[in-house]
Amino acid sequence: MTLAENSNNNNSINAFLGLNYEPALESLGNDYYDEVAAAEFPQHILRWRNDALLPRLGLDPEVVTDADFVTAFGKFEKRKPLLALRYHGYQFGEYNPMLGDGRGFLYGQVRGSDGELYDFGTKGSGRTPYSRGGDGMLTLKGGVREVLAAEALHHMGVRTSRCLSMIETGLSLWRGDEPSPTRSCVMVRMSKSHIRFGTFERLHYLRRPDLTKKLLDHVIEQYYPNLIHEQEKYALFYAELVKRVAELVAQWMAAGFCHAVLNTDNMSITGESFDYGPYAFIPTYQPYFTAAYFDYYKRYCYSHQPSICQLNLEMLQEALKSVIALADMEMGLASFDEHYQREYDSLMLQKIGFEQLQDTQKTELLKLTIQFLQDSQVGYHQFFYEIARTFSPKWRDEPGLVMATSNIVPVTGTSEIFDNWCILYHKLLNNFDIQDMSIIAQNLALNNPKTVLLRPVIESIWEPITQEDNWQPFYELVKQIQSGN
Ligand code: AMP
Ligand code: MG
Repeated sequence: MTLAENSNNNNSINAFLGLNYEPALESLGNDYYDEVAAAEFPQHILRWRNDALLPRLGLDPEVVTDADFVTAFGKFEKRKPLLALRYHGYQFGEYNPMLGDGRGFLYGQVRGSDGELYDFGTKGSGRTPYSRGGDGMLTLKGGVREVLAAEALHHMGVRTSRCLSMIETGLSLWRGDEPSPTRSCVMVRMSKSHIRFGTFERLHYLRRPDLTKKLLDHVIEQYYPNLIHEQEKYALFYAELVKRVAELVAQWMAAGFCHAVLNTDNMSITGESFDYGPYAFIPTYQPYFTAAYFDYYKRYCYSHQPSICQLNLEMLQEALKSVIALADMEMGLASFDEHYQREYDSLMLQKIGFEQLQDTQKTELLKLTIQFLQDSQVGYHQFFYEIARTFSPKWRDEPGLVMATSNIVPVTGTSEIFDNWCILYHKLLNNFDIQDMSIIAQNLALNNPKTVLLRPVIESIWEPITQEDNWQPFYELVKQIQSGN
């Protein structure tokens, strides 16, 4: 059976219902989830469909109708079982055994044309046994923000989930952090998996090593298939997870992204980035920049992200130690810094245009760059974009030409660092042949998008939505992000 059997031009069959769903998690038995029903909504207005993802599902965007999206991902017709996943987690350092999918469920799992297994997970689809006092809903602004974050991060090279659809649902919600009443939506996220660190933490809390092993075998089989036949597969799995997470954080840091809520229930066991709530892209380089207003102690501030993720990995050891030898995990975690630094340096170097430099030159350049960004407080993204925008092979001729036509103006006290940066850049360019200048220009253009999702940018597209129901600026912003402009 093909992925999208029956989906081609057959009006009677919904494109998404015709997909070949695999009961991967469901087949593990009901210790890991509860079967739930979706909320019924007064309205279903499709606000966003991510056509870029459809080919991976074997679907032709020309053929898939808006009604297909609404029926499947707004009305949730004819799809069972819908599974609210069970998990716990450390939230701001405190263990919380009262978590679980409180406003979402696993709609289904599908194998992509790339051979990988994907989850369709909902957000804002109604109450579940894990909703506690919550209404099970997602605000429209929350949906808009997650769609944008995922697209932006993906196009900045971050390994992330993406949103498949967002449907406005016509409810009025009350929230402390948005002018209320505020509009509602239901979103469907396509991700590698919704199994979290917290999924394992729950099994440890319940003292169920049998369930831990069963789930871990499943995770390795589906998301670390290269390890299945390894004798040391559990130790290798943990080491690989450490590498993936370290690289992911390095990708956030280079992209100037602050996730904001790095609780262990928001950490995917596949090392993929997901669940974007009060995130922010840093406007300038500020190590203590904190995105969530309720993060009073700056626990999850920008510069803490690597050490927090390392800590989350360390806490996961406790949950996995019934299956994986502690000594093996400690050894795996010891490589975190090395993986992180390698990826971060390489990404930052690319943002400055280079693929490789000698170690000492690399260290000097990155140190000077960060020092200038921090001391001058010029826009983090603007700085790199200005290198890209104004780059010229002529910069090889004279240090004074470097960044001369850019709009970077060093504030008092930082012009010396800036001059030193320009002198170093000039010197480094002269280590390369003139023919290499086009590669540098290309790297700069590729790694420094003009459009960055700073908070005022998000607010500028939210304003017309909320005031005049005008979605055009939102669509234009997504288009700009997707085209890398
Ligand atoms: P989050 O901060 O989005 O990662 O959510 C943390 C936990 O709270 C998860 O278990 C969510 O399912 C739950 N949650 C968040 N918002 C709501 C809501 N409006 N209704 C029910 N549960 C919620
Ligand atoms: Mg979450």
